[in-house]
Amino acid sequence: MADKPHQNLAVIGHVDHGKSTLVGRLLYETGNVPEHVIEQQREEAEAQGKGGFEFAYVMDNLAEERERGVTIDIAHQEFDTDEYYFTIVDTPGHRDFVKNMITGASQADNAVLVVAADDGVQPQTQEHVFLARTLGIDQLIVAINKMDLVDYEESRYHEAVEEVKGLLGQVNFSTEDAGFIPVSAFEGDNIAEDSENTPWYDGETVLEALNDLPEPQPPTDAPLRLPIQDVYTISGIGTVPVGRVETGTIEGGDNVSFQPSDASGEVKSVEMHHEEVPSAGPGDNVGFNVRGIGKDDIRRGDVCGPAEDPPKVAETFQAQVVVMQHPSVITAGYTPVFHAHTAQVACTIESIDSKIDPSSGEVAEEEPDFIQSGDAAVVTVRPQKPLSIEPSSEIPELGSFAIRDMGQTIAAGKVLSVNQK
Ligand code: GDP
Repeated sequence: MADKPHQNLAVIGHVDHGKSTLVGRLLYETGNVPEHVIEQQREEAEAQGKGGFEFAYVMDNLAEERERGVTIDIAHQEFDTDEYYFTIVDTPGHRDFVKNMITGASQADNAVLVVAADDGVQPQTQEHVFLARTLGIDQLIVAINKMDLVDYEESRYHEAVEEVKGLLGQVNFSTEDAGFIPVSAFEGDNIAEDSENTPWYDGETVLEALNDLPEPQPPTDAPLRLPIQDVYTISGIGTVPVGRVETGTIEGGDNVSFQPSDASGEVKSVEMHHEEVPSAGPGDNVGFNVRGIGKDDIRRGDVCGPAEDPPKVAETFQAQVVVMQHPSVITAGYTPVFHAHTAQVACTIESIDSKIDPSSGEVAEEEPDFIQSGDAAVVTVRPQKPLSIEPSSEIPELGSFAIRDMGQTIAAGKVLSVNQK
């Protein structure tokens, strides 16, 4: 696995525009559909006297297995191309995509936007592009899907492309950082091979575009930040916090600090996959043991960092937020739950400082009375309990959050500055 760089890829777009089908097609074309699924389908196709072996059978089977909740799920599927190993991060609509994407569990480097040629830009297309922009996704591959349903008409393709370009312009996404491809995920046009059905198109296939994505920047010189997921007591060893290293490295002998609990000590040992390792870095899931720390001294939601450069604890912080869905309006005083890394803390939106025009990124209104769905704004936030969080410009991995209320994600944001206790 070490010979190719890794990419986390989000597949975004309106419901039913073909995200799952495209992912299934990519898995199939790259030889990553499990052999037993293909074998079973081959046998069934033969038993039914159907010649050949169609992709539709594979997709039906993937869908069926998904319904049964057994083995296959689109989220966290993996496939590789000549250049990269790809992990599909939670696909919107499936599970808690938005929240997961923001809280770091599955940060995407790049995204494929799926837009059905027969349906064009729809509300979720807009919402997901907005979000991709807020979260700093570098590059978009725009698949204009279901070209078979519009008879592979060039004019319809261009109409859809223009609609998407309009949307990208609205959120200030450079259309130069987006590639457009006419595809049929179902029929396989322009996915792995140039399609004869679109002689008027001479650009890249989806696989070529994936190969041409820029290599993600590894998070390197930031200090250690390790959000704590759980804390265990193991007899003979003592207190063992576990979590994923987001930035920096951790190794035996390090002096570390846990914030906001404000506990500190010396790392005795670091374990990964039940084995002791000399050190661990970004992306590694670790358990470790710290001299002098009891089980009740630290908790889930703490962040571990170097004692000489400890994680910040916010008295207040300023953030840019995008409101995705809220039944009414948001005003100062509103106190929903913020989800940031492994922490969940009620926070009060103390003031709405300015409303941002998404098309220019400039201030549209100073101190508006309220914001609502679709608005972007700068707000000042006061956590109701101590919360460790970092400016997104310094440590992006610890600088974004989701705002949840009434069982749904209502907004997403990134931290501009932290006013420390
Ligand atoms: P998702 O909700 O975006 O994941 O969409 P799905 O992948 O579940 O697709 C929704 C429906 O559109 C399904 O019935 C698919 O079979 C169909 N579909 C997806 N891609 C294509 C395509 O390229 N052509 C046609 N004709 N149908 C498609």
